[in-house]
Amino acid sequence: MDIPALQKIIDRSRRIVFFGGAGVSTASGIPDFRSGDGLYRQEFDGLTPEMILSKSFFYLHPAAFFDFYRKYMVHPEARPNAAHRWLYEMEKQDRLRGIVTQNIDGLHKLAGNRRVYEIHGTIYENYCMDCNKPFPLEKIMASDGVPRCDACGGVIKPSVVLYGEAPDKYVCIGACREISNADTMIVAGTSLSVEPAASFLDYFSGKHLVVVNQEPTPADSRASLVLHGDVSVILSELKT
Ligand code: NAD
Ligand code: ZN
Repeated sequence: MDIPALQKIIDRSRRIVFFGGAGVSTASGIPDFRSGDGLYRQEFDGLTPEMILSKSFFYLHPAAFFDFYRKYMVHPEARPNAAHRWLYEMEKQDRLRGIVTQNIDGLHKLAGNRRVYEIHGTIYENYCMDCNKPFPLEKIMASDGVPRCDACGGVIKPSVVLYGEAPDKYVCIGACREISNADTMIVAGTSLSVEPAASFLDYFSGKHLVVVNQEPTPADSRASLVLHGDVSVILSELKT
């Protein structure tokens, strides 16, 4: 594993952008979707997680959606791991320009990072679909079945992007701007199989595209460096 080559790239970079996915949080105890023990290897009453986490399923079967969501998508006990902590140090030194994450777990913000583009939203923001009243995650977790607004009785929807929904335009614009301004982009812990997120890589025109992932990804062929392994271990071996 060529950690020294990665260190050299990092040392020479001034505008790093990090693009991550579920694999960044597996070391925090949150399963990803497509690894060997990921959620996509399981079936839930004949349904795949992709079907349950879709906009149409949410509207047709909200109680079943929330059962799955509370059980498998929300991990309030999870804490940032060494990858999140390294990224926080890099932002503190103003070498990391931004984090673009597909994760909804909020762990980058919990680690202290401020320039985080959560392109699939976050479990920590929830709104009444009728009156827009905001609710904390605790309200979702403490409800039985479908969480309801205490002001108007409307359904409370987590601010996470479901399959079939478009991500927030302004978050995407900010993320793509960071990517296009970066001299180095680290892509980590993602299978790059969810669109439009995966296509954001096309905005990168800097010098070094680095991939850190346990399995091969579609970006490996155009990367200047590919490291196959655990992102929390690899980043923790780097100096900041
Ligand atoms: P994915 O499950 O499709 O792919 C994860 C990738 O990370 C795999 O290629 C796997 O080999 C790799 N990986 C797993 N653990 C790793 C580790 N410790 N170090 C390095 N690589 C590791 O995930 P995705 O590409 O992010 O797409 C899944 C979608 O599911 C995303 O949109 C995301 O919103 C959502 N999701 C989020 C979370 C979360 O918030 N933590 C968890 C599961 C799924
Ligand atoms: Zn309401």
